[in-house]
Amino acid sequence: MANHYQILVVGGGNAGLSVASQLLRKRSNLNIGIIDPSEKHYYQPAWTLVGAGIFDIKTTVRNEKELIPKNTTWIKEAVSEFQPTENKVKCTSGDEFTYDYLVVCPGIQLDWYKIKGLKETLGKNNVSSNYSFQYAPYTWEMIENFKGGTAVFTNPTTPIKCGGAPHKIMYLACDYWRKKGILDKCEVHYISGANTIFGVKEYADTLKKVVSKYNIHVHYGANVTAINGADKTIEFVTKEIDENLNQKLSNKNAACYGIIETQKTDELKKVILNFDLCHAVPPQSAPDFIQNSPLRDPENPLGYVAIDKHTMQHVRFPNVFALGDCTNAPCSKTGAAIRKQAPVVVENLLAILDKKKMTAHYDGYSACPIPTQYGKLMLAEFDYSNTPKMTFPINQANPNWAMWILKTKILPWLYWNKILKGTA
Ligand SMILES: Cc1cc2nc3c(=O)[nH]c(=O)nc-3n(C[C@H](O)[C@H](O)[C@H](O)COP(=O)(O)OP(=O)(O)OC[C@H]3O[C@@H](n4cnc5c(N)ncnc54)[C@H](O)[C@@H]3O)c2cc1C
Repeated sequence: MANHYQILVVGGGNAGLSVASQLLRKRSNLNIGIIDPSEKHYYQPAWTLVGAGIFDIKTTVRNEKELIPKNTTWIKEAVSEFQPTENKVKCTSGDEFTYDYLVVCPGIQLDWYKIKGLKETLGKNNVSSNYSFQYAPYTWEMIENFKGGTAVFTNPTTPIKCGGAPHKIMYLACDYWRKKGILDKCEVHYISGANTIFGVKEYADTLKKVVSKYNIHVHYGANVTAINGADKTIEFVTKEIDENLNQKLSNKNAACYGIIETQKTDELKKVILNFDLCHAVPPQSAPDFIQNSPLRDPENPLGYVAIDKHTMQHVRFPNVFALGDCTNAPCSKTGAAIRKQAPVVVENLLAILDKKKMTAHYDGYSACPIPTQYGKLMLAEFDYSNTPKMTFPINQANPNWAMWILKTKILPWLYWNKILKGTA
């Protein structure tokens, strides 16, 4: 295997395969290497549907080998170091690879350990998370067998991939319990690090009605610190947040959710709740090997790759681009965002390669399909300015059946058959 590539892609997930395929469709003679250690490739957006009992987990995974674009080289290794001044990456095996152009997209890191006790109790004691291939099926087991009591759903204080996933599963669970006739025996709590249910007013207005319909107790500006599965307790610290007041929001990666910045002087209230069922979402950050590298944004506490949010080019190393969940672009981290980022990376990288001016521009587009009950979904689409950018000629803020079909049937098919192949 060669150790120099014209274009080296780090991470063969949603972003990496989309970009590699699109590059080859534009120019079939490019010499592209894709570094990724994983034998498996996951369609993560369907894990919400697995947790809701309507998707088989097996349909969300395929062999990476079958998806790697033809005419690229798959390097089955894990990158551990970036040396951008030498155009070189180092792998955990000690192998080194050099490049002319680098595309960085190894996804996001799940920091389970930042909630004390969570890792140990996942998959048992009625504690689960759709953020894990291993445990998403257990979410459904818990929801299906629930007989009533206190159900808690958490959302961390950091930006995460798919900001909607922590509450999507909550609405589906409530709807399931409603149909089963036990919702009035359920006390449902949403414990969230954000300051609102959704950062785009038009969509938030719909979700506030949904929250009220299911009688959900919301705790905003809350940081979950510990989950004790055996004792069935969850601990969080919070400062009282009123969603209707204008709180001071962090502008660092807040995306469509305002993350509350806590000051050292803030008085935080510690709350301990007993629960019978808990769906937890871990805090997230850039993978450690990015945080510890020269590619990171030194201003960003979570260590994301420092890019220009419109061109997707690294701010210090012009032959480096990044996209997907690993960047500091203040957009919502989704596959939908990648669909708009990938063509921008491709066009701008090829412009640089041709010694031309970059002209492609990413406007922060992202989308979040939020099911509000089985059979109905609100497709929230928006950009950096958090204004709605609706694709369809209907008011997408009204949950409807067509968008449900889009999420459950059309998007999974598009992902495997078009998006990863660079044709959508
Ligand atoms: C529960 C859940 C629900 C979601 N719902 C939606 C939704 O409805 N709509 C939507 O658009 N998005 C949704 N998403 C988000 C979406 O899945 C991600 O935004 C998307 O997968 C990010 O793509 P990526 O390529 O950046 O990272 P990934 O797809 O995670 O791929 C990263 C790749 O990098 C590789 N890698 C990791 N470390 C290394 C290393 N050291 N060296 C080399 N390679 C490495 C990994 O093996 C992996 O293949 C959801 C996610 C979850 C978890």
